[in-house]
Amino acid sequence: MLAPMKLSSIQLRRVETMPKQLEPGILYVSEEFETAAHLCACGCGSKIRTPLGPTEWSFHDSSKGPSLWPSVGNWQQACQSHYVIKDGTIIWHDKWTPAQIAAGRRREEISRAAYYEAMYAKQGWLFRFWKWLRKQLHL
Ligand SMILES: [Zn+2]
Repeated sequence: MLAPMKLSSIQLRRVETMPKQLEPGILYVSEEFETAAHLCACGCGSKIRTPLGPTEWSFHDSSKGPSLWPSVGNWQQACQSHYVIKDGTIIWHDKWTPAQIAAGRRREEISRAAYYEAMYAKQGWLFRFWKWLRKQLHL
């Protein structure tokens, strides 16, 4: 069996809804539905979905090409590909060991928890401010 071609670059295509058939070398982004999808850059043909959002992947578009952060790790796929999409370039990373995958998941959970904590803290502050303001205005 021939080894599939590893891609070194990817182009952006903005869409409203994800097409059923994805073309290789294209990063499909729907900002409306806060999601991105592409075919695994190793050429194995598996579809990679990356939800976009403050606790998911972040997406940036520059004149050089699209960027996704953090890295894409296809741990559920046979290929176990791991890469970063930066300015339209695929930066290949080493495959992770199961221990590294578990550590990555833990880091993700911790940063997610920190995000929600910060958000609730901010809301708490706003709520206290509102109560104070109401008192000042004798509402
Ligand atoms: Zn792959």
